[in-house]
Amino acid sequence: MLKRFGIVLILSFISVLSFTTSASALVNYGNVSGWMASTSVSKIGFFSASDIKLYITKNSNWLMTDTNFSTYITHAIDSWHSVVNKTTSTGTSSNFVKSFNGIGRSDANSLSIPSNVLGLNTWTASTYYGYGKAYGTHNFDVYTIQKSVTYLIWSTSGAGKTSDFTANQWKNVFAHEYGHGLGYYGHSANSTKDLMWEDTSSYSDWGTISPTQYDKGHMGIVY
Ligand SMILES: [Zn+2]
Repeated sequence: MLKRFGIVLILSFISVLSFTTSASALVNYGNVSGWMASTSVSKIGFFSASDIKLYITKNSNWLMTDTNFSTYITHAIDSWHSVVNKTTSTGTSSNFVKSFNGIGRSDANSLSIPSNVLGLNTWTASTYYGYGKAYGTHNFDVYTIQKSVTYLIWSTSGAGKTSDFTANQWKNVFAHEYGHGLGYYGHSANSTKDLMWEDTSSYSDWGTISPTQYDKGHMGIVY
């Protein structure tokens, strides 16, 4: 049972124009260690802004209390802070860098989000930035992220049921999705204990609520 979307959708436009005109300025990351994403994953990203403007929104089908919603978002941000080292501030619907959107299962259905998904993230604006090699041979591409959207889904039944989640389960989901938002494309291939492991059905517990040293090492490639 796959509970999270396996793919971080890039809905936006990788600018062909900027790619072709700035090719000589592309960053070459060379050979990197600490690449923990699956070898089928060839992307990683980072927020280009030094200040992450947050926009938090919900609809009537999101039944979590505002206090808990805020607590879990704060947890997600704090859990990655030592790697990302960005400030956060309040953004608006028009100028945000990162949004958190609380929705219900019916809304998720309208967005074609599979029924077993708890949350998902999309980079809605990103730009090609550079390239490198992991394992000495595995090529990857780096993107700057200008805008990233996370959906959290309140569901009362089925494989994606979240309405009975404990605080640790929610902290895991929020921090995991924020990891995608910050640039972790794909999932850890290292350990089920990693925050960025994909399949929550393989968890013996939900003890991981923050990035592990491996999650941090992977993200640290670009931050
Ligand atoms: Zn994921």
